[in-house]
Amino acid sequence: YHAWYEANAAGSKATFEEAQRYIPGGVQHNLALNDPWALDIVKAEGAHLWDVDGNRYIDFLQAGGPTVLGSNYAPVREEITQLIADCGPVTGMLHAYEVKLAKLIHDFMPNVQKFRMLGSGTEGVMAAVRAARAYTGKSHVIKVGGAYHGWSDQVVFGLRIPGTGSLEAAGIPAGALQLTQEVAPGDLDELRAKLAANAGNGGTAAVFVEPIGPESGAHLVRHGFNAQVRELCDEFGALLVFDEVVTGFRLGMGGAQGYFGVKPDLTVFGKCVAGGYPAAGGIGGSDEVMNVFAGGLTAAGKRALVGGTLSANPMSCAAGYHTLLEMDRTNAPAIAGRAGDRLRAGLSALIARYDLPYVVYNVGSVVHLHTSGVLHLSIHDPEFFTELGPRKDMLGQMSMAFSAEGVVTLAGSRLYTSMADTDEVIDDALARFDRVFARV
Ligand code: PMP
Repeated sequence: YHAWYEANAAGSKATFEEAQRYIPGGVQHNLALNDPWALDIVKAEGAHLWDVDGNRYIDFLQAGGPTVLGSNYAPVREEITQLIADCGPVTGMLHAYEVKLAKLIHDFMPNVQKFRMLGSGTEGVMAAVRAARAYTGKSHVIKVGGAYHGWSDQVVFGLRIPGTGSLEAAGIPAGALQLTQEVAPGDLDELRAKLAANAGNGGTAAVFVEPIGPESGAHLVRHGFNAQVRELCDEFGALLVFDEVVTGFRLGMGGAQGYFGVKPDLTVFGKCVAGGYPAAGGIGGSDEVMNVFAGGLTAAGKRALVGGTLSANPMSCAAGYHTLLEMDRTNAPAIAGRAGDRLRAGLSALIARYDLPYVVYNVGSVVHLHTSGVLHLSIHDPEFFTELGPRKDMLGQMSMAFSAEGVVTLAGSRLYTSMADTDEVIDDALARFDRVFARV
């Protein structure tokens, strides 16, 4: 596939070469996979992307998840264009859109009584750690191994991306991790043991979970896990935090908490909460917990600090508000979910036809394709993730091959569908996957 890039993507190559001169690694996110080089995208609409060389791609990256309505959705863009014409991107004062967004989130997730808009999912997680400690007066936080909660010191700990080994954690002092603990995915016994051990030793402020499993379901959660974590949190007086950066509104307007029927104490938002527009993050929860952030400059008593110059700017709040309204009106999560079902079924048939050592599954519009080296391994087989060592190279190869056939994915292993993915788009994509799989 290198030959395809040399012949067809020279414009992107030139951009990427210059990017490497002025931007570390040539990319803005260390976790981006850009083999053999990043594609320079000049146009995005619905289910498709176009690069500077004129190639068109079916887009299953979907910017990493925020665009359930499809890319560059015109009705939302028009509202934002109008708002910017009226008051520019930010004023630092109150705007009615902030209230509209918070109220709408509450309507969809009744458990989120109060909401603060922030700049990113990473910031939402940082705020959740702080709120949990401020509210409970306890010290430790526990996360599930392999989960990605952004890149802040306290939770990047132990990040394991399937197939890529441990991420280098340079620049994080050991001291930053003293109060962070990890349990193996799905291991409730280990969670109970850690909660019990912490009880006499500072206590556990919060347990963080990605409700469909670490890395957006790359380690798929087992049935009943979230409800059992809820019970354990209640037993030990720890707050349960759902990181809904990916699942929030993508799984349904009620998020993962609606999907699983489990109520977290705090919910972290990102991505969809600004519909793909900048400054996409937030934290929500009960009145009681969220009031740790209630202090203004003149408030007395306990006050946890959170905020930022661009947090809750009217543009991001308008983007979130109109995105969520449109997602609800159009039934986008369910439509995107059906596209995910069709994609999974088609990929599954191809894997069977070529008898490849791959596994594919989906939770609605989140589709995972694991290209392991072992035939017929189940995702719940403990061997599955220990066996993934050789996958690092394979991910790059797959991602490159898919793009050369005109399908962009998240690192060759995760595919987000959107409302723009009609049956025709999915079938077109499957024909392209067929060409790659036939050559494996
Ligand atoms: N949590 C989860 C589950 C995520 O997937 C991400 C981003 N991919 C984050 C947190 C961090 O969000 P952001 O990139 O907006 O900082």
